[in-house]
Order: sequence, then structure tokens, then C-alpha cells
Amino acid sequence: MAKAFFARARFNKIMTKYIFVTGGVTSSLGKGIISASLAKLLQSRGYRVTIQKFDPYINIDPGTLNPYEHGECYVTEDGAETDLDLGHYERFLNTPTSQSNNITTGRIYQNVINREREGAFLGKTVQVVPHITDEIKRNFKILGDTGNYDIVITEIGGTVGDIESLPFVEAVRQFRWEAGSGNSLVIHLTLVPFLAAAGELKTKPTQHSVKMLLEYGIQPDILVCRTEHHLNADIRKKIALFCNVNINAVIESIDASSIYDVPLLMLKEQLDKTVLTKLKLPNKNEPDLDSWKDFLGRLKNPTAEVRIGLVGKYVELPDAYKSITEAFIHAGAKNECKVRVEYIHSEQLTPQNAVERLRGLHGVLVAPGFGQRGFEGKIEAIRYVRENNIPFFGICLGMQCAVVEFGRHVLQLEAANSVEMDGHTTYPVISMMEDQKNVTNKGGTMRLGSYPCDLKKGSKAAHIYGKQHINERHRHRYEFNNEFLKQYEDAGMIPSGINPQNGLVEIVELKNHPFFVGSQFHPELKSTVANPHPLFVNFVAASLGYARKN
Ligand code: GLN
Repeated sequence: MAKAFFARARFNKIMTKYIFVTGGVTSSLGKGIISASLAKLLQSRGYRVTIQKFDPYINIDPGTLNPYEHGECYVTEDGAETDLDLGHYERFLNTPTSQSNNITTGRIYQNVINREREGAFLGKTVQVVPHITDEIKRNFKILGDTGNYDIVITEIGGTVGDIESLPFVEAVRQFRWEAGSGNSLVIHLTLVPFLAAAGELKTKPTQHSVKMLLEYGIQPDILVCRTEHHLNADIRKKIALFCNVNINAVIESIDASSIYDVPLLMLKEQLDKTVLTKLKLPNKNEPDLDSWKDFLGRLKNPTAEVRIGLVGKYVELPDAYKSITEAFIHAGAKNECKVRVEYIHSEQLTPQNAVERLRGLHGVLVAPGFGQRGFEGKIEAIRYVRENNIPFFGICLGMQCAVVEFGRHVLQLEAANSVEMDGHTTYPVISMMEDQKNVTNKGGTMRLGSYPCDLKKGSKAAHIYGKQHINERHRHRYEFNNEFLKQYEDAGMIPSGINPQNGLVEIVELKNHPFFVGSQFHPELKSTVANPHPLFVNFVAASLGYARKN
């Protein structure tokens, strides 16, 4: 008891406020977008906000997961491999996230077990409560304790009631009690389905979901209700009555045509005001959303359209390329141009059908990826766009494919390859990075995170960025093999971006082509609403130029 009292007393000195976002009824309701939208509104009122995600799976991070399992693996500046929701946080807030913004059950257990082995709990039985829940609570506070944030929003992955998210929910309960009233709140996201046969919205799933939270000792403060139809006053009253919340704490979240509409929808529902009142924070400055609205205006009123092919092997699941498709949205708005992304399965591209499959596109992006499957189809796509002067953008594996294609068809290095695809090739134009050669563990061991890059004066890359030194984020094990550099340069493939520390080629471009750029890094990870990535903006502009000419 005394310990809890001191925990509470300590807390009250801390000025950071904590918001937890849980989900009920079903998965995929968009907790990440609601969290990011609320954060945007609070940020636009002058608050310093960050968002973190707690995922209930046992993997230490999603870096070892196939994209089909969990969508894209997002990478932060500090090299954390994270859930794709962190991408939304960055795109909305235009502030970087870090390793501390994404925690999994696996990492929590790893930390506790490591400490157990060190002897930190000598003599004690290590248990879910209190040891795992203590570690979860410690992680809830890591970002708040930096003093950099007024408000920390924590998204709890999974759905309340799942066995695996129980320790997180219990930790939220304890945390709330320790933090004291007014210092934290819980927003519960639920679904209010429309039953066509009855012609009615149904509140029962929401009631049940809140009941389940109550069983775990948590009364949600605010309910955000996903719905296809507007919630009328009666429905709101009913939800408020049965779920013990004020009527203004029943927030409608109606289906939107774009995720970027959601902050404005939440503003209309006054989610930000309700949150500030409950957290006893001053309702200072009205939200300044001018530039956001300006972006939406350009997004919704395009004056042109381009068709861009996205060649990859995970195309069945668009979430696998989330940051790329979002970067196209930002770049499209910047160009006042609708970017129609056409997914092209690289496994289905052959020398026989590539021309027919790719005809009519105004630009082609070859996606990142791993392994042999679909590799040759990417080579075919690149051959077609290189020979036909169609704008091309290759990212990571896409850049490596461009190097292989150029080696095979321009330099006539027959069977040139990446050693990832053929370990015995006579022409290893893409080889394994030196510091990767002795790596045996798969998790968290790639070249990850932000690295500097110098751009070659007079190159397209330097022109696009408008500067000479950049930093971009990486996630790969292979690289351009500098033994072939001179041959490539002489034939017109220019290394226009070089890592100043180790000489790794980070960007290649073709001299005699309207737009042919490959980057070893992932520019899509740094594109935000406020700062669309220049490589995407210029690629879309080049595609638009091609569309107009043809
Ligand atoms: N498989 C390649 C490598 O590891 C490319 C990785 C990627 O596209 N992210 O180097």
C-alpha cells in the first residue's frame, strides 16, 4: 500500500498526460488513424504530442514478419523495425518516432527475463503481475519522462478480450489508478454496425465491449464509434446511458473517403475539446489546421491524373506497401494530380507479356522486397521502362534490380545478378555488405535506420533535393558492388548518392533518360503531409510530363 501511495505521489509531479486508446468489437477499426488524428488536433493547438503503440504479439518486433502477416515493416530514424501505424503517426504529426514508440509483448518479456537472469529478482517468483505489468507501465512512461511531450497517446494493439492483450489492459488499469484523476484517460474505439434488414444502427456490441473493459476494471472516458451512418441523438444517448459516459463523450467516427479527412471529422465531433477538458488542460489556441486543409483541398481537386505501376510481389495486400502509397498521395497533392496506383504482380511479368502489361502506364515504381520470387519480373519491368524512356523509380530491391538489369542488357554482363538471388554468379553486381557477412541472427541485424548520403553535384538527385547532404532510412543487407562502378559510370549509370563514411552507393540514375532513379534507402518512410518527399514529388511530376507528351 505504501509503495502504491509513493508511486502515486511521484506521478503527480509529472506534468505529462497519458491517453490510452483501446479497441473493441472487432479488429481493423482504425485505432492508429484515430490516435494520429487526435494527436494532430492536439498538436495543432500547440501541445507537444507523441504516439506509441503496444503490440500484443511475442515477436520482439515485426522485422522478421512476412508482409502478408502484418503489412509493411516501418523503420524509424534510430533503426527500429516497427508496426506500420508508426508511419501514420509520422505522416500526420511530421515528427519522428523511435524504438520507444513501438513495444511488443516479446520485448517486455525479453526485458524482464534478461533482468531475471542478471539476478534482479533473486529469491522472488517472477510473475505477470506485478513484474510484466510493471515493465509495461515503465514503457508507457519512457517517452513522457523525457520531458519532451505534454501528452503521450498509447495505442493498445489487438481487441479488448483477447487473451494476449490482457497484461496491457491490466497495466492500463494500474497506471490510471497510480496517475490519479485528470492525468490519464481511456478512449475506447468500437463499432456501431448497421443492420440492413432492421434498417437500424445497433449499439449492443459497443455495450458488450464496454462491459468487458469494466470487468477488467476500466471505465472508458470516451467512446469513439465507427459507423457507416450518422449517429443521431437517440443512439448517442443510448450509448452514453448504457456505457456510463457523458453524451459529449460519444464520438461518431463515420467512414471517410480518405484517412486524411479524419482529423477534421474528429474536430467536428470536438474530440480534442472533450479530451482537454477531461485531462484538465487549458483549451488554449484554436486548432491551426490551415496547411492541413490546404493539402486536403489539393488532394480532392486534382487537375490531372497519372497511372503509375507499382511492381512488387506482395500486391495482394496493399498494406505491404503502405508508406509508398501514402507517399504517392502526398506527392500527388503537391502536383495537384491524382496518382492512380496500379498494382502489378512481379511474379506474373515475363519477357513475353511485359510490354502488354505495362503499356499505358505513365511511370513505374519497382518496390522493395526480399528473395528470388518475383525478381525476374521486376527486371523485365525495368528493361521496358528504360528502353522506352518511361519514368522509373526503384526503391531498395527495386534499385538493385535496376543495377542487375543494366548489367545484363547494357553492359552485356550475361547473368549479372545480386548474390541474394544467386550466390555463385560470375557478375555479382549487387553483393553482401561487408559487415553483414558474419551476421547469423535474422532479427534486427540488417543495415537499419538513418544514414548520411552525399549527392553528386549536377546530378538529378542533387537537383531534386536542392542540397548536397541528405539523411535517409535504410533496411537491407546487400549493396551495389563498387568493383563494377567504373564500368557502370562509363556506360551512363551514375552513382549520384554516396555514403560519405564507407563509399556505399545509395542512389543510381541514368544520364540519358527523362527520369530513371534508384535509391538503396527508403524515401517513402520520410514522406509526410507537411513534407512530401522530393523524390516522389519529382517522380510524379516526371510521370505527369510523360502523360502529357503521350
Ligand atoms: N533484399 C534486399 C537487401 O536485403 C533489399 C531489401 C529491401 O528492399 N528492403 O538488400
